[in-house]
Amino acid sequence: MQKHLVNYTTEAFRSAFQSEPDFFFLAPGRINIIGEHVDYSDGFVLPAAIDKYICFAVKKIDDSETCTFFAKDFNESFSFNVNQKQIPVKQMWANYLLGVFNAVQESGKKIGGVQIAFSSTIPMGSGLSSSAALECGFAFILNQIFGLNLSKKELALIGQKSEHTFAGVKCGIMDQFASVFGKEQQVIMLDCNTLDHQYFEANLDGYSLVLFDSCVKHTHLTSGYNDRRNDVDHGKKALWKRFPEVEKFRDFNFSMLEEVRTEIGETSFKRCIYLLKEIGRVEKAAKALSEGNIEYLGELLNETHHGLSTEFEVSCEELDFMVEETLKENGVLGARIMGGGFGGCSINLIKDENIIEAIENISIKYKEKFGIDMKVYRVKISDGIREYKRNEFIV
Ligand code: ADP
Ligand code: MG
Repeated sequence: MQKHLVNYTTEAFRSAFQSEPDFFFLAPGRINIIGEHVDYSDGFVLPAAIDKYICFAVKKIDDSETCTFFAKDFNESFSFNVNQKQIPVKQMWANYLLGVFNAVQESGKKIGGVQIAFSSTIPMGSGLSSSAALECGFAFILNQIFGLNLSKKELALIGQKSEHTFAGVKCGIMDQFASVFGKEQQVIMLDCNTLDHQYFEANLDGYSLVLFDSCVKHTHLTSGYNDRRNDVDHGKKALWKRFPEVEKFRDFNFSMLEEVRTEIGETSFKRCIYLLKEIGRVEKAAKALSEGNIEYLGELLNETHHGLSTEFEVSCEELDFMVEETLKENGVLGARIMGGGFGGCSINLIKDENIIEAIENISIKYKEKFGIDMKVYRVKISDGIREYKRNEFIV
């Protein structure tokens, strides 16, 4: 599949620039096994890079001041002068790249001329972080071909900054971190505040992670997200007022939360209890994965879905239906909504021999109920952004 994508991107490069590319880079999308909405509450997340990529075909152009992109998936080009300051533009996809350039420029580094064609197997806007792959892929390329000496952490932060400043999305750091730091067969337990992280072996042993894309995205995503943050802040304020000695939100326990329950009200209470439980589940899931205790991992995923649906209330009819029906299938150990909520994909832990049947059944039921064709992505946990040498696929 990578070979196909690289060949396709090479063709795109040839047709856009009438020459041969010198380098190839692959920037992966990501999944998050568990740890939803805890990134802004001192929690850990458990993402991993996957085998879906944006492929970049690249040529450094000496004595040039121009950086030119060809976005094959839109059949659109964009150029800018690398010696001038850039501002956001109308072409949305170009902003993710201009934002990276801007962050690199602000850090005092200089780049030269370059031509880049890119194309992707990461679905856009489905919650697999095609945007992080785009930003961090470009940051990685600049670092490599212009010898900028940026660390992997800096590359992830540049990607996040680009998204904040040029794309206008106030995202956390998980997506960029996973795309840069991913490792084959490993999940990353990441503290989003400190960026401390630890790898855990993903022993799935006869099971796979399969994503079902509901193809719905309810528009209240942003307002829903802000409301949840307000509910959580309300609870946190009361907790810290009562227990000022506690350092991090994750160090509060359930009985402390119970003590402020009447004061904060049921809504805030539900949001906070979800977060405390979810933070605990991430550590348990990392351990379960590395010990190959897949059944327990499945239970944790199910608990998370239940929490997201009834306590944090960020699921929706389509995803609840999908998850509920998936759990009735043979060989399914866990299913949950993945990502911020109100649509997107479910992530499902299914025994290999039962995958095809589960996909068939859920597709039919989902179509019958909502009139929508769901999409399916079978994913493997893979390496983070890397240069791809052409001889890798000469067999
Ligand atoms: P997600 O990151 O979950 O896929 P986002 O809405 O954050 O969704 O990012 C999607 C946006 O990223 C697209 O609308 C587009 O602007 C940009 N993008 C992603 N992949 C590509 C691609 N292959 N070609 C051009 N732009 C892309
Ligand atoms: Mg994104």
